[in-house]
Amino acid sequence: LGGAANSTSTAATSVARAFCSSSTTPITATMFPGDGIGPEIAESVKQVFTTAGVPINWEEHYVSTEIDPRTQSFLTWESLESVRRNKVGLKGPMATPIGKGHRSLNLTLRKELNLYANVRPCYSLPGYKTRYDDVNLITIRENTEGEYSGLEHQVVRGVVESLKIITRQASLRVAEYAFHYAKTHGRERVSAIHKANIMQKTDGLFLKCCREVAEKYPEITYEEVVIDNCCMMLVKNPALFDVLVMPNLYGDIISDLCAGLVGGLGLTPSCNIGEDGVALAEAVHGSAPDIAGKNLANPTALLLSGVMMLRHLKLNEQAEQIHSAIINTIAEGKYRTADLGGTSTTTEFTKAICDHL
Ligand code: NAD
Repeated sequence: LGGAANSTSTAATSVARAFCSSSTTPITATMFPGDGIGPEIAESVKQVFTTAGVPINWEEHYVSTEIDPRTQSFLTWESLESVRRNKVGLKGPMATPIGKGHRSLNLTLRKELNLYANVRPCYSLPGYKTRYDDVNLITIRENTEGEYSGLEHQVVRGVVESLKIITRQASLRVAEYAFHYAKTHGRERVSAIHKANIMQKTDGLFLKCCREVAEKYPEITYEEVVIDNCCMMLVKNPALFDVLVMPNLYGDIISDLCAGLVGGLGLTPSCNIGEDGVALAEAVHGSAPDIAGKNLANPTALLLSGVMMLRHLKLNEQAEQIHSAIINTIAEGKYRTADLGGTSTTTEFTKAICDHL
């Protein structure tokens, strides 16, 4: 797991160093348990981290029942301030009503905290058999604009318009992150995923920026792949790809496809990287309302997101310890949640991981 250990931001590095200047001083991190299965899997993370002796104090923030005018969403200003102050956090999934309602909580977080890159590693778990055993991909998703700019309106009755915003500044920023990530994590190839044949202006600008950045990294192979072809290639042979960088919506979709290659959404973590050294880790999956409150959720994705957070903080020993315990528990096969074909509850699976620490 590459994780988000090597952020481009020197601010992030200095923050991490400051955090780790004394291994006995606990670090304060923000925790959003979130909606649906969020509180169940957040509890699992807290248990595993406590058992592993991770020196973290969680500052928990819940979604409000009223709109905070300062954020125009159910996310409170205080919770945003908590992440800004602590610089690190772990976020459970947050539900968004379909087609109506308030400003998305996730969009609010990404915009307000300027979380410009979402890093989504996806790799085959040893001992858990799927069609492929060699998946090792990093999807880097532009996180602040594109189709998720939240600019939608009705033009006239029966006609609506949704704006896809692509800026040079945000495209260069995420491309730079992707190439730097590739370079510092021993990766060889960056693929820019696009639909510039149709979205000529928007994806065209995104590609232009990727090309500009690629020139600064001659040691990294750069290629451009049209998104539909990319989907086909990923399903046929995921080993063709290494690091993939793309606009917002494509990243959302491709990373779920990648999750399907390794066993599903219960397994794939991510970390949102902000310009001010902020790292907010979260699972790729949503609030899974179909299984919420039933003690059935797989906490692996959020746990691995927690591992990414620990690597960002340079708490590498604890990160490796927890990572191995998760992998070994799944590989052993005695305790697995239903999404992986097992019969264990979230609680039983969590206990098994703790026993492996
Ligand atoms: P989802 O990811 O919640 O669920 C898709 C399927 O995967 C469901 O069958 C679910 O049971 C399963 N699944 C997901 N996570 C799992 C886990 N940890 N263990 C076992 N099974 C798991 O997607 P959805 O149903 O489309 O979305 C539900 C809600 O989540 C929506 O409101 C959506 O907006 C929100 N959402 C939030 C985020 C986020 O907070 N980052 C991401 C995606 C979706």
